[in-house]
Amino acid sequence: MAAVTLASTAAAKTSPAKSASLWRRDLRAAGVRAWLPSLAAVVLALVSWLIDWPALAQPAGLQGVLRALGILTGAAGTALWVASLVLMLRFRALDQRFGGLDRQYFAHHIAGTLAYLMLLAHPVLLVAAAWIASPQSAAALAQPWGQGAAVIAGWLALAGLMAMMFATFYGGIAYGRWKRLHAASALAYVFALAHVAELLPAWGEGRLGAIVLVVAMAGGFVAIALRRQLDRTALDARSFIVERAMRASPTTIEVVLAPTAAGAPFTFAAGQFVFVAFDAGPGYAGCRDYHPFTIASAPGGARFTLLIRALGGCTARMQGLATGTRARVQGPYGGMFRDADFTRPQVWIGGGIGITPFIAMAEALTATTAVPAASIDVYMLARDPHDAPGLAALRAAVARTPNLRLIELTANEGPQAVRAAVLATSGPLVARDFYLCGPPGMQEATLAWLAAEGVPGARIHAERFDFR
Ligand SMILES: Cc1cc2nc3c(=O)[nH]c(=O)nc-3n(C[C@H](O)[C@H](O)[C@H](O)COP(=O)(O)OP(=O)(O)OC[C@H]3O[C@@H](n4cnc5c(N)ncnc54)[C@H](O)[C@@H]3O)c2cc1C
Repeated sequence: MAAVTLASTAAAKTSPAKSASLWRRDLRAAGVRAWLPSLAAVVLALVSWLIDWPALAQPAGLQGVLRALGILTGAAGTALWVASLVLMLRFRALDQRFGGLDRQYFAHHIAGTLAYLMLLAHPVLLVAAAWIASPQSAAALAQPWGQGAAVIAGWLALAGLMAMMFATFYGGIAYGRWKRLHAASALAYVFALAHVAELLPAWGEGRLGAIVLVVAMAGGFVAIALRRQLDRTALDARSFIVERAMRASPTTIEVVLAPTAAGAPFTFAAGQFVFVAFDAGPGYAGCRDYHPFTIASAPGGARFTLLIRALGGCTARMQGLATGTRARVQGPYGGMFRDADFTRPQVWIGGGIGITPFIAMAEALTATTAVPAASIDVYMLARDPHDAPGLAALRAAVARTPNLRLIELTANEGPQAVRAAVLATSGPLVARDFYLCGPPGMQEATLAWLAAEGVPGARIHAERFDFR
Protein backbone atom coordinates (compact mmCIF):
# COMPACT_ATOMS: atom_id res chain seq x y z
CA MET A 1 0.00 0.00 0.00
CA ALA A 2 1.51 3.34 -1.00
CA ALA A 3 1.73 6.01 1.69
CA VAL A 4 0.22 9.20 0.37
CA THR A 5 -2.25 11.53 1.99
CA LEU A 6 -5.10 13.81 1.26
CA ALA A 7 -5.33 15.04 4.82
CA SER A 8 -4.95 18.70 3.98
CA THR A 9 -7.30 18.65 1.03
CA ALA A 10 -9.95 16.36 2.42
CA ALA A 11 -10.45 18.73 5.30
CA ALA A 12 -10.84 21.74 3.02
CA LYS A 13 -13.91 23.81 3.76
CA THR A 14 -16.81 23.35 1.41
CA SER A 15 -17.58 26.46 -0.59
CA PRO A 16 -19.21 27.07 -3.96
CA ALA A 17 -16.35 29.43 -4.77
CA LYS A 18 -13.86 26.62 -4.25
CA SER A 19 -15.54 24.51 -6.91
CA ALA A 20 -14.94 27.01 -9.70
CA SER A 21 -13.27 24.55 -12.02
CA LEU A 22 -16.08 22.02 -11.56
CA TRP A 23 -18.57 24.77 -12.30
CA ARG A 24 -16.72 25.71 -15.49
CA ARG A 25 -16.72 22.11 -16.60
CA ASP A 26 -20.46 21.84 -15.89
CA LEU A 27 -21.20 24.97 -17.88
CA ARG A 28 -19.77 23.26 -20.93
CA ALA A 29 -21.03 19.76 -20.16
CA ALA A 30 -24.73 20.55 -19.64
CA GLY A 31 -24.96 21.93 -23.18
CA VAL A 32 -27.32 24.48 -24.71
CA ARG A 33 -30.21 22.00 -24.90
CA ALA A 34 -30.50 21.87 -21.13
CA TRP A 35 -30.68 25.65 -20.91
CA LEU A 36 -33.27 26.12 -23.65
CA PRO A 37 -36.39 26.31 -21.41
CA SER A 38 -34.79 29.00 -19.23
CA LEU A 39 -33.67 30.95 -22.29
CA ALA A 40 -37.15 30.59 -23.78
CA ALA A 41 -38.70 32.00 -20.58
CA VAL A 42 -36.44 35.06 -20.74
CA VAL A 43 -37.10 35.61 -24.45
CA LEU A 44 -40.86 35.27 -23.91
CA ALA A 45 -40.78 37.78 -21.05
CA LEU A 46 -38.72 40.23 -23.08
CA VAL A 47 -40.77 39.90 -26.28
CA SER A 48 -44.05 40.33 -24.42
CA TRP A 49 -42.79 43.69 -23.15
CA LEU A 50 -40.81 44.70 -26.23
CA ILE A 51 -43.88 44.75 -28.45
CA ASP A 52 -44.98 47.72 -26.36
CA TRP A 53 -41.63 49.48 -26.75
CA PRO A 54 -43.08 52.83 -27.96
CA ALA A 55 -45.24 53.03 -24.85
CA LEU A 56 -42.46 51.91 -22.51
CA ALA A 57 -39.86 54.26 -23.92
CA GLN A 58 -41.68 57.35 -22.75
CA PRO A 59 -40.83 60.21 -22.68
CA ALA A 60 -38.88 60.29 -25.91
CA GLY A 61 -35.09 60.35 -25.78
CA LEU A 62 -32.57 58.89 -23.33
CA GLN A 63 -34.93 59.06 -20.37
CA GLY A 64 -37.48 56.87 -22.15
CA VAL A 65 -34.85 54.39 -23.29
CA LEU A 66 -33.48 54.03 -19.75
CA ARG A 67 -36.98 53.63 -18.36
CA ALA A 68 -37.79 50.93 -20.93
CA LEU A 69 -34.51 49.14 -20.19
CA GLY A 70 -35.32 49.33 -16.48
CA ILE A 71 -38.65 47.61 -17.10
CA LEU A 72 -37.07 45.02 -19.42
CA THR A 73 -34.36 44.07 -16.91
CA GLY A 74 -37.11 43.68 -14.29
CA ALA A 75 -39.04 41.36 -16.61
CA ALA A 76 -35.99 39.31 -17.65
CA GLY A 77 -34.76 39.10 -14.04
CA THR A 78 -38.15 37.86 -12.89
CA ALA A 79 -38.23 35.21 -15.64
CA LEU A 80 -34.75 34.05 -14.59
CA TRP A 81 -35.82 33.94 -10.95
CA VAL A 82 -38.72 31.68 -11.91
CA ALA A 83 -36.35 29.51 -13.97
CA SER A 84 -34.02 29.19 -10.98
CA LEU A 85 -36.96 28.08 -8.81
CA VAL A 86 -37.97 25.39 -11.31
CA LEU A 87 -34.34 24.26 -11.51
CA MET A 88 -34.24 23.47 -7.80
CA LEU A 89 -36.85 20.73 -8.24
CA ARG A 90 -35.45 17.23 -7.95
CA PHE A 91 -37.32 15.84 -10.94
CA ARG A 92 -35.61 12.96 -12.66
CA ALA A 93 -36.49 14.41 -16.08
CA LEU A 94 -34.55 17.57 -15.22
CA ASP A 95 -31.67 15.58 -13.75
CA GLN A 96 -31.44 13.57 -16.96
CA ARG A 97 -31.65 16.66 -19.14
CA PHE A 98 -28.68 18.24 -17.39
CA GLY A 99 -26.70 15.00 -17.10
CA GLY A 100 -26.81 15.05 -13.31
CA LEU A 101 -28.39 16.87 -10.41
CA ASP A 102 -25.15 18.69 -9.60
CA ARG A 103 -25.19 20.24 -13.08
CA GLN A 104 -28.87 21.09 -12.74
CA TYR A 105 -28.13 22.82 -9.41
CA PHE A 106 -25.32 24.66 -11.14
CA ALA A 107 -27.85 25.93 -13.71
CA HIS A 108 -30.07 26.93 -10.76
CA HIS A 109 -27.16 28.99 -9.38
CA ILE A 110 -26.44 30.62 -12.73
CA ALA A 111 -30.10 31.51 -13.33
CA GLY A 112 -30.41 32.86 -9.76
CA THR A 113 -27.25 34.96 -10.06
CA LEU A 114 -28.27 36.41 -13.42
CA ALA A 115 -31.74 37.14 -12.02
CA TYR A 116 -30.15 38.96 -9.11
CA LEU A 117 -27.93 41.05 -11.40
CA MET A 118 -30.87 41.96 -13.66
CA LEU A 119 -33.07 42.83 -10.71
CA LEU A 120 -30.28 44.98 -9.32
CA ALA A 121 -29.98 46.77 -12.69
CA HIS A 122 -33.77 47.29 -12.74
CA PRO A 123 -33.97 50.05 -10.06
CA VAL A 124 -30.62 51.50 -11.11
CA LEU A 125 -31.89 52.10 -14.65
CA LEU A 126 -35.22 53.47 -13.44
CA VAL A 127 -33.42 55.87 -11.07
CA ALA A 128 -31.08 56.90 -13.91
CA ALA A 129 -34.13 57.63 -16.09
CA ALA A 130 -35.66 59.70 -13.29
CA TRP A 131 -32.34 61.56 -12.85
CA ILE A 132 -32.69 62.92 -16.38
CA ALA A 133 -36.03 64.45 -15.39
CA SER A 134 -34.63 65.84 -12.12
CA PRO A 135 -32.17 64.76 -9.42
CA GLN A 136 -34.93 65.21 -6.85
CA SER A 137 -37.22 62.66 -8.50
CA ALA A 138 -34.24 60.26 -8.80
CA ALA A 139 -33.42 60.68 -5.10
CA ALA A 140 -37.06 60.07 -4.21
CA LEU A 141 -37.18 56.89 -6.30
CA ALA A 142 -33.90 55.58 -4.89
CA GLN A 143 -35.29 55.33 -1.36
CA PRO A 144 -38.03 52.95 -0.35
CA TRP A 145 -39.95 55.17 2.04
CA GLY A 146 -42.48 57.68 0.80
CA GLN A 147 -42.96 55.83 -2.49
CA GLY A 148 -45.90 53.65 -1.59
CA ALA A 149 -46.27 49.97 -0.85
CA ALA A 150 -45.19 48.77 -4.31
CA VAL A 151 -41.75 50.35 -4.15
CA ILE A 152 -41.22 49.22 -0.55
CA ALA A 153 -42.14 45.68 -1.60
CA GLY A 154 -39.68 45.88 -4.49
CA TRP A 155 -36.80 46.99 -2.24
CA LEU A 156 -37.65 44.29 0.31
CA ALA A 157 -37.62 41.67 -2.45
CA LEU A 158 -34.20 42.88 -3.55
CA ALA A 159 -32.87 42.85 0.02
CA GLY A 160 -34.16 39.28 0.47
CA LEU A 161 -32.52 38.22 -2.76
CA MET A 162 -29.28 39.83 -1.64
CA ALA A 163 -29.32 37.92 1.66
CA MET A 164 -29.89 34.67 -0.20
CA MET A 165 -27.02 35.32 -2.61
CA PHE A 166 -24.74 36.04 0.33
CA ALA A 167 -25.78 32.83 2.08
CA THR A 168 -25.10 30.82 -1.07
CA PHE A 169 -21.75 32.24 -2.06
CA TYR A 170 -20.31 32.71 1.41
CA GLY A 171 -19.16 29.16 2.18
CA GLY A 172 -18.98 29.47 5.98
CA ILE A 173 -22.68 28.99 6.79
CA ALA A 174 -23.72 25.60 8.21
CA TYR A 175 -25.85 23.60 5.78
CA GLY A 176 -29.02 23.63 7.94
CA ARG A 177 -28.87 27.41 8.45
CA TRP A 178 -28.14 27.94 4.75
CA LYS A 179 -31.14 25.82 3.85
CA ARG A 180 -33.43 27.81 6.16
CA LEU A 181 -32.12 31.09 4.73
CA HIS A 182 -32.68 29.75 1.24
CA ALA A 183 -36.24 28.78 2.13
CA ALA A 184 -36.82 32.25 3.60
CA SER A 185 -36.17 33.69 0.15
CA ALA A 186 -39.72 32.60 -0.66
CA LEU A 187 -40.70 35.70 1.33
CA ALA A 188 -38.62 37.85 -1.04
CA TYR A 189 -40.55 36.25 -3.88
CA VAL A 190 -43.86 37.22 -2.24
CA PHE A 191 -42.63 40.83 -2.00
CA ALA A 192 -41.59 40.70 -5.66
CA LEU A 193 -45.07 39.56 -6.66
CA ALA A 194 -46.64 42.31 -4.56
CA HIS A 195 -44.34 44.79 -6.30
CA VAL A 196 -45.29 43.58 -9.77
CA ALA A 197 -49.00 43.26 -9.03
CA GLU A 198 -49.21 46.72 -7.47
CA LEU A 199 -47.27 48.48 -10.22
CA LEU A 200 -48.70 46.80 -13.27
CA PRO A 201 -51.87 48.87 -13.57
CA ALA A 202 -49.70 52.00 -13.58
CA TRP A 203 -47.73 50.73 -16.57
CA GLY A 204 -50.94 50.30 -18.48
CA GLU A 205 -49.62 49.64 -21.92
CA GLY A 206 -47.55 46.57 -21.09
CA ARG A 207 -50.66 44.43 -20.82
CA LEU A 208 -49.29 41.26 -22.44
CA GLY A 209 -45.99 41.60 -20.60
CA ALA A 210 -47.88 41.98 -17.34
CA ILE A 211 -49.89 38.83 -17.95
CA VAL A 212 -46.78 36.85 -18.87
CA LEU A 213 -44.99 38.03 -15.70
CA VAL A 214 -47.87 37.19 -13.40
CA VAL A 215 -48.36 33.75 -14.96
CA ALA A 216 -44.62 33.06 -14.76
CA MET A 217 -44.54 34.14 -11.12
CA ALA A 218 -47.46 31.86 -10.35
CA GLY A 219 -45.36 29.05 -11.88
CA GLY A 220 -42.57 30.01 -9.49
CA PHE A 221 -44.95 29.64 -6.56
CA VAL A 222 -45.93 26.18 -7.77
CA ALA A 223 -42.20 25.27 -7.87
CA ILE A 224 -41.67 26.55 -4.31
CA ALA A 225 -44.72 24.69 -3.03
CA LEU A 226 -43.72 21.49 -4.83
CA ARG A 227 -40.19 21.60 -3.47
CA ARG A 228 -41.42 22.14 0.09
CA GLN A 229 -43.96 19.38 -0.28
CA LEU A 230 -41.47 16.94 -1.81
CA ASP A 231 -38.99 17.71 0.97
CA ARG A 232 -41.52 16.87 3.64
CA THR A 233 -43.67 14.09 2.27
CA ALA A 234 -43.28 10.86 0.44
CA LEU A 235 -45.23 12.06 -2.60
CA ASP A 236 -42.70 10.94 -5.18
CA ALA A 237 -40.65 8.65 -2.93
CA ARG A 238 -40.49 4.86 -2.84
CA SER A 239 -40.94 3.02 0.43
CA PHE A 240 -38.04 0.89 1.68
CA ILE A 241 -37.07 -0.79 4.91
CA VAL A 242 -33.66 -1.29 6.50
CA GLU A 243 -33.14 -5.00 5.96
CA ARG A 244 -29.64 -5.05 7.44
CA ALA A 245 -27.47 -2.49 9.21
CA MET A 246 -23.92 -3.17 10.28
CA ARG A 247 -20.78 -1.29 11.20
CA ALA A 248 -18.52 -0.82 8.18
CA SER A 249 -15.85 1.24 9.99
CA PRO A 250 -15.62 3.30 13.19
CA THR A 251 -17.35 6.22 11.43
CA THR A 252 -19.53 4.46 8.88
CA ILE A 253 -22.58 2.25 8.87
CA GLU A 254 -23.52 -0.06 6.02
CA VAL A 255 -27.25 -0.20 5.37
CA VAL A 256 -29.07 -2.56 3.04
CA LEU A 257 -32.46 -1.24 1.92
CA ALA A 258 -35.19 -3.50 0.57
CA PRO A 259 -38.53 -2.41 -0.96
CA THR A 260 -41.50 -2.74 1.40
CA ALA A 261 -43.99 -3.65 -1.29
CA ALA A 262 -44.07 -5.46 -4.56
CA GLY A 263 -44.32 -3.25 -7.60
CA ALA A 264 -42.17 -1.97 -10.38
CA PRO A 265 -38.55 -2.76 -9.49
CA PHE A 266 -36.35 0.11 -8.37
CA THR A 267 -33.84 0.44 -11.17
CA PHE A 268 -30.62 2.39 -11.10
CA ALA A 269 -27.24 2.49 -12.83
CA ALA A 270 -23.87 2.10 -11.15
CA GLY A 271 -22.66 5.49 -9.93
CA GLN A 272 -26.13 6.94 -9.29
CA PHE A 273 -27.27 8.30 -5.95
CA VAL A 274 -30.57 8.55 -4.09
CA PHE A 275 -32.05 10.95 -1.55
CA VAL A 276 -33.08 9.00 1.53
CA ALA A 277 -35.14 10.05 4.56
CA PHE A 278 -35.27 7.58 7.44
CA ASP A 279 -38.35 7.47 9.65
CA ALA A 280 -37.94 7.06 13.40
CA GLY A 281 -37.17 3.45 14.19
CA PRO A 282 -35.15 1.19 16.45
CA GLY A 283 -31.91 3.00 17.35
CA TYR A 284 -32.75 6.08 15.31
CA ALA A 285 -34.89 9.18 15.81
CA GLY A 286 -35.09 12.59 14.23
CA CYS A 287 -33.58 14.04 11.05
CA ARG A 288 -36.41 12.90 8.87
CA ASP A 289 -35.23 15.05 5.97
CA TYR A 290 -33.74 13.72 2.74
CA HIS A 291 -29.99 13.27 2.41
CA PRO A 292 -28.10 12.20 -0.71
CA PHE A 293 -26.17 8.91 -0.69
CA THR A 294 -24.52 7.08 -3.56
CA ILE A 295 -25.60 3.49 -4.03
CA ALA A 296 -22.67 1.27 -3.11
CA SER A 297 -23.81 -1.97 -4.74
CA ALA A 298 -24.29 -3.25 -8.25
CA PRO A 299 -27.62 -2.67 -10.00
CA GLY A 300 -29.85 -5.57 -10.83
CA GLY A 301 -31.57 -6.68 -7.63
CA ALA A 302 -34.48 -5.25 -5.67
CA ARG A 303 -32.19 -4.18 -2.77
CA PHE A 304 -29.30 -1.81 -2.62
CA THR A 305 -26.54 -0.91 -0.17
CA LEU A 306 -25.55 2.47 1.26
CA LEU A 307 -22.41 3.37 3.18
CA ILE A 308 -23.25 6.27 5.48
CA ARG A 309 -20.37 8.09 7.13
CA ALA A 310 -20.90 10.37 10.15
CA LEU A 311 -20.02 13.70 8.53
CA GLY A 312 -22.49 15.85 10.47
CA GLY A 313 -25.37 15.81 12.94
CA CYS A 314 -27.85 13.68 11.00
CA THR A 315 -25.36 11.20 9.61
CA ALA A 316 -23.95 10.78 13.14
CA ARG A 317 -27.44 9.82 14.31
CA MET A 318 -27.83 7.48 11.34
CA GLN A 319 -24.99 5.39 12.79
CA GLY A 320 -27.68 4.02 15.12
CA LEU A 321 -29.89 2.75 12.28
CA ALA A 322 -31.14 -0.78 12.83
CA THR A 323 -33.10 -3.42 10.97
CA GLY A 324 -36.75 -2.54 10.55
CA THR A 325 -36.41 1.23 10.17
CA ARG A 326 -38.52 2.58 7.34
CA ALA A 327 -36.99 4.76 4.66
CA ARG A 328 -38.31 6.93 1.85
CA VAL A 329 -36.16 6.99 -1.26
CA GLN A 330 -36.17 9.58 -4.03
CA GLY A 331 -34.30 9.05 -7.26
CA PRO A 332 -32.06 7.66 -8.58
CA TYR A 333 -30.21 10.73 -9.78
CA GLY A 334 -26.95 11.58 -11.49
CA GLY A 335 -24.88 9.11 -13.38
CA MET A 336 -21.18 9.46 -13.09
CA PHE A 337 -20.61 6.58 -15.51
CA ARG A 338 -23.42 7.49 -17.90
CA ASP A 339 -21.14 7.97 -20.91
CA ALA A 340 -18.35 5.66 -19.76
CA ASP A 341 -16.43 4.08 -22.62
CA PHE A 342 -14.87 0.86 -21.36
CA THR A 343 -12.83 0.44 -24.51
CA ARG A 344 -10.67 3.33 -23.28
CA PRO A 345 -8.24 3.06 -20.36
CA GLN A 346 -9.53 4.69 -17.21
CA VAL A 347 -8.33 5.97 -13.86
CA TRP A 348 -10.74 6.12 -10.92
CA ILE A 349 -9.77 8.23 -7.92
CA GLY A 350 -11.88 8.01 -4.78
CA GLY A 351 -11.31 9.77 -1.48
CA GLY A 352 -12.83 8.62 1.82
CA ILE A 353 -16.51 7.83 1.49
CA GLY A 354 -16.17 8.78 -2.21
CA ILE A 355 -15.38 5.10 -2.68
CA THR A 356 -19.11 4.31 -3.06
CA PRO A 357 -19.70 4.80 -6.82
CA PHE A 358 -16.57 2.79 -7.54
CA ILE A 359 -17.79 -0.17 -5.47
CA ALA A 360 -21.05 -0.10 -7.46
CA MET A 361 -19.25 0.09 -10.81
CA ALA A 362 -16.61 -2.52 -9.94
CA GLU A 363 -19.34 -4.90 -8.77
CA ALA A 364 -21.37 -4.17 -11.90
CA LEU A 365 -18.36 -5.00 -14.09
CA THR A 366 -17.81 -8.18 -12.07
CA ALA A 367 -21.39 -9.20 -12.63
CA THR A 368 -21.24 -8.85 -16.41
CA THR A 369 -19.50 -11.32 -18.65
CA ALA A 370 -18.16 -8.50 -20.81
CA VAL A 371 -14.64 -7.80 -19.58
CA PRO A 372 -13.65 -4.11 -19.90
CA ALA A 373 -11.54 -3.91 -23.03
CA ALA A 374 -9.02 -1.52 -21.53
CA SER A 375 -7.30 -1.29 -18.16
CA ILE A 376 -8.86 0.52 -15.20
CA ASP A 377 -6.58 1.73 -12.40
CA VAL A 378 -8.53 2.34 -9.21
CA TYR A 379 -6.90 4.68 -6.67
CA MET A 380 -8.42 4.77 -3.22
CA LEU A 381 -7.34 7.40 -0.73
CA ALA A 382 -8.06 7.00 2.95
CA ARG A 383 -6.85 9.19 5.77
CA ASP A 384 -6.93 6.31 8.19
CA PRO A 385 -6.45 2.76 6.86
CA HIS A 386 -8.42 1.49 9.88
CA ASP A 387 -11.36 3.69 8.89
CA ALA A 388 -11.73 2.84 5.19
CA PRO A 389 -15.31 1.60 4.72
CA GLY A 390 -16.10 -0.35 1.60
CA LEU A 391 -12.50 -1.20 0.88
CA ALA A 392 -13.02 -4.92 1.45
CA ALA A 393 -15.96 -4.96 -0.99
CA LEU A 394 -13.94 -3.01 -3.56
CA ARG A 395 -10.94 -5.31 -3.16
CA ALA A 396 -13.17 -8.34 -3.70
CA ALA A 397 -14.81 -6.87 -6.82
CA VAL A 398 -11.46 -5.80 -8.30
CA ALA A 399 -9.96 -9.22 -7.65
CA ARG A 400 -12.78 -10.85 -9.59
CA THR A 401 -12.59 -8.52 -12.60
CA PRO A 402 -9.85 -8.75 -15.22
CA ASN A 403 -8.20 -5.47 -16.24
CA LEU A 404 -9.00 -3.75 -12.92
CA ARG A 405 -6.13 -2.85 -10.60
CA LEU A 406 -6.51 -1.35 -7.11
CA ILE A 407 -3.91 1.04 -5.72
CA GLU A 408 -4.51 1.95 -2.08
CA LEU A 409 -3.06 5.21 -0.82
CA THR A 410 -3.00 6.47 2.74
CA ALA A 411 -2.96 10.04 3.86
CA ASN A 412 0.15 12.06 4.60
CA GLU A 413 1.67 14.14 1.88
CA GLY A 414 -1.01 15.89 -0.15
CA PRO A 415 -2.19 15.92 -3.76
CA GLN A 416 1.25 16.14 -5.34
CA ALA A 417 2.12 12.76 -3.87
CA VAL A 418 -1.09 11.35 -5.33
CA ARG A 419 -0.16 12.91 -8.67
CA ALA A 420 3.28 11.28 -8.53
CA ALA A 421 1.76 7.90 -7.65
CA VAL A 422 -0.76 8.10 -10.52
CA LEU A 423 1.91 9.20 -13.01
CA ALA A 424 4.25 6.42 -11.96
CA THR A 425 1.57 3.73 -12.15
CA SER A 426 -0.84 4.85 -14.89
CA GLY A 427 1.11 7.36 -16.99
CA PRO A 428 0.97 8.75 -19.61
CA LEU A 429 -2.33 10.27 -18.54
CA VAL A 430 -3.62 12.09 -21.63
CA ALA A 431 -4.90 8.84 -23.17
CA ARG A 432 -7.05 8.00 -20.13
CA ASP A 433 -10.52 8.89 -18.89
CA PHE A 434 -10.73 10.02 -15.25
CA TYR A 435 -13.48 9.47 -12.71
CA LEU A 436 -13.26 11.30 -9.38
CA CYS A 437 -15.38 11.17 -6.27
CA GLY A 438 -14.62 12.55 -2.84
CA PRO A 439 -14.56 15.67 -0.69
CA PRO A 440 -14.64 18.99 -2.59
CA GLY A 441 -11.07 19.86 -1.55
CA MET A 442 -9.75 16.58 -2.90
CA GLN A 443 -11.62 17.01 -6.18
CA GLU A 444 -10.39 20.56 -6.66
CA ALA A 445 -6.78 19.56 -6.02
CA THR A 446 -7.05 16.57 -8.36
CA LEU A 447 -8.69 18.65 -11.10
CA ALA A 448 -5.87 21.18 -10.80
CA TRP A 449 -3.04 18.68 -11.24
CA LEU A 450 -4.90 16.81 -14.01
CA ALA A 451 -5.23 20.11 -15.88
CA ALA A 452 -1.50 20.74 -15.32
CA GLU A 453 -0.81 17.29 -16.82
CA GLY A 454 -2.78 18.33 -19.92
CA VAL A 455 -5.79 16.06 -19.38
CA PRO A 456 -8.73 17.72 -21.21
CA GLY A 457 -11.75 18.62 -19.04
CA ALA A 458 -14.02 16.49 -21.24
CA ARG A 459 -12.11 13.39 -20.11
CA ILE A 460 -12.71 14.09 -16.43
CA HIS A 461 -15.93 12.97 -14.75
CA ALA A 462 -16.48 14.09 -11.19
CA GLU A 463 -19.31 13.57 -8.73
CA ARG A 464 -19.69 16.29 -6.13
CA PHE A 465 -20.36 15.30 -2.51
CA ASP A 466 -21.79 18.69 -1.72
CA PHE A 467 -25.00 20.40 -2.82
CA ARG A 468 -25.75 24.03 -2.16
C1 LIG B 1 -24.34 13.27 -4.65
C2 LIG B 1 -23.92 12.98 -3.25
C3 LIG B 1 -23.65 11.68 -2.87
C4 LIG B 1 -23.27 11.39 -1.57
N1 LIG B 1 -23.00 10.10 -1.22
C5 LIG B 1 -22.64 9.81 0.04
C6 LIG B 1 -22.38 8.44 0.43
O1 LIG B 1 -22.47 7.51 -0.37
N2 LIG B 1 -22.05 8.22 1.72
C7 LIG B 1 -21.94 9.24 2.64
O2 LIG B 1 -21.63 8.97 3.81
N3 LIG B 1 -22.18 10.53 2.30
C8 LIG B 1 -22.53 10.83 1.03
N4 LIG B 1 -22.78 12.14 0.69
C9 LIG B 1 -22.66 13.17 1.71
C10 LIG B 1 -23.89 13.17 2.62
O3 LIG B 1 -25.05 13.48 1.88
C11 LIG B 1 -23.73 14.22 3.71
O4 LIG B 1 -22.63 13.85 4.49
C12 LIG B 1 -24.93 14.30 4.61
O5 LIG B 1 -26.06 14.74 3.91
C13 LIG B 1 -24.57 15.20 5.77
O6 LIG B 1 -25.71 15.48 6.55
P1 LIG B 1 -25.51 15.86 8.09
O7 LIG B 1 -26.76 16.47 8.60
O8 LIG B 1 -24.98 14.69 8.84
O9 LIG B 1 -24.35 16.90 8.08
P2 LIG B 1 -24.36 18.52 7.94
O10 LIG B 1 -23.32 18.98 8.90
O11 LIG B 1 -25.77 19.01 8.11
O12 LIG B 1 -23.94 18.67 6.48
C14 LIG B 1 -22.62 18.43 6.05
C15 LIG B 1 -22.61 18.69 4.53
O13 LIG B 1 -23.41 17.69 3.89
C16 LIG B 1 -24.22 18.27 2.84
N5 LIG B 1 -25.65 18.07 3.18
C17 LIG B 1 -26.20 18.02 4.39
N6 LIG B 1 -27.52 17.79 4.32
C18 LIG B 1 -27.80 17.69 3.01
C19 LIG B 1 -29.00 17.48 2.29
N7 LIG B 1 -30.17 17.29 2.90
N8 LIG B 1 -28.94 17.47 0.95
C20 LIG B 1 -27.77 17.67 0.32
N9 LIG B 1 -26.60 17.87 0.94
C21 LIG B 1 -26.61 17.88 2.27
C22 LIG B 1 -23.83 19.74 2.78
O14 LIG B 1 -22.81 19.89 1.83
C23 LIG B 1 -23.27 20.03 4.14
O15 LIG B 1 -22.35 21.07 4.12
C24 LIG B 1 -23.17 12.44 -0.61
C25 LIG B 1 -23.46 13.74 -0.99
C26 LIG B 1 -23.83 14.01 -2.29
C27 LIG B 1 -24.16 15.42 -2.68
